Amino acid sequence: MKKCLICTTPVMFLKFKCQDGHVCKTCYEKVSLNFSQTIKTKTKEELIAIHQEQSQSSAVDNFEISRKINQLVLFDDANKQFCLPNHMKYSGETLQPEFYPFTAIKACRIEEHQILKEDKDKSKKLGTIKVVLNLNDGQAITRNIWLIPKPIQIDNRTYQTMMSLAQKVMEELNQTKEGVPTC
Ligand SMILES: [Zn+2]
Repeated sequence: MKKCLICTTPVMFLKFKCQDGHVCKTCYEKVSLNFSQTIKTKTKEELIAIHQEQSQSSAVDNFEISRKINQLVLFDDANKQFCLPNHMKYSGETLQPEFYPFTAIKACRIEEHQILKEDKDKSKKLGTIKVVLNLNDGQAITRNIWLIPKPIQIDNRTYQTMMSLAQKVMEELNQTKEGVPTC
């Protein structure tokens, strides 16, 4: 059976041809900019890019915050989407705020990296903490949320605070993911 190149749902009668295959009606509506453009000569990559752009702009207009974890993740439970504000401080790279449906969450885990620092006669344990989020919204994406980007002592209070924040982020994202019926 043919599948939509963008969202991979099976397409049957109502399908729209592009250069690399077909897209479903829902996706076609977006990539044709509300049926105002043809897609016949467009490639899969081009369509996925347009689709993301369109999804982002409609998500920005519709986003209503129902929950949030500091400035790290914002949730919109009514519209089943979340936002990564991607503040430079936490993302470690220059990114625009991003919006994803709950269904895009594939996995979420904490990555801690600890090193032992020998200092004269005593040694200290230093560490970094980040939350790694695997997403799939038409294509696989990985995002890091850095809670402790530069190594600090792990018995430091900040380290412990950030670790519990990381756990909260991971738990809420995983619960949000499990709340989504999979098909
Ligand atoms: Zn589709």
